[in-house]
Amino acid sequence: MNEEQTTSEFRGALQNQIAVISGAARGIGEAIAVELGRMGARVVLTARDRARLDQVKQAIEQTGGTALVLPCDLTDANAIAALGRQVHTECGRCDILVNDAGVGAERKPLIDVGVDEWDRVMDTNLRAPYLMMRALAPMMVAARSGHIINISSLAGKNVLPGGAAYSASKWGLNGLTYSVAEELRQYNVRVSVIAPGSVNTGFGDGLSGKDKTRMIQPQDVAQVVAMLVTQAPTSFVSEVLLRPTMKP
Ligand code: NAP
Repeated sequence: MNEEQTTSEFRGALQNQIAVISGAARGIGEAIAVELGRMGARVVLTARDRARLDQVKQAIEQTGGTALVLPCDLTDANAIAALGRQVHTECGRCDILVNDAGVGAERKPLIDVGVDEWDRVMDTNLRAPYLMMRALAPMMVAARSGHIINISSLAGKNVLPGGAAYSASKWGLNGLTYSVAEELRQYNVRVSVIAPGSVNTGFGDGLSGKDKTRMIQPQDVAQVVAMLVTQAPTSFVSEVLLRPTMKP
């Protein structure tokens, strides 16, 4: 599947919608942002690296889309609250929120993991999605419409010796997603989680010794997001476990 095929069936489907994507500076988040931009959404790009976000914005504009860059360190609760206020001021609504930003950690036994390292993983992978939902979901509740998609991992479904903090953050993100989904469905707001296996990005050590061409590609995850945000209004896929077709 190439990128044009991904977008052609959904082109224009998100016209007039605002989509906020965390982790949009590279990897999976960048692919999701480009995809939703092609589908007609105005995409709000956030991550720490403003220069990279500007490049993603340019790429979206080259395909006829529109994007807004709002850099933010997601480990900073005040910065996330300010981001929420900026989205409200500049866009007036939030139709789609994709919590993609995440970090891994050096593989080692839990007893060797320092508190700072534990906190960095938890703050980025679990606390930030909570804070982003707290900052942005009220606009969805007010509009009685919206879709939140959290990017988890198969490490949040399986055991990961040597990666316990990362695994725990993603198990936590799954539980957070299932629970918030139950809270928000009464407002016609859908909350879903995507849990991919190893994806061909620069993330962690997931690529070592693997055939990259067989791996899940960032565009594959973006295509799943496109499917989730274009479902029939009466039902929603609450969880997607995404595996490579052939083992890398
Ligand atoms: P990546 O290429 O390393 O990108 C991570 C993104 O998160 C970057 O845009 C980064 O931007 C942003 N980010 C990290 N820390 C941040 C912070 N403190 N504040 C704001 N933004 C921050 O990773 P990826 O492979 O695309 O992974 C994206 C998501 O998919 C993660 O949640 C990851 O756990 C999940 N996932 C990945 C794989 C895989 O094998 N790649 C598999 C399953 C799940 P800045 O550095 O500019 O802030």
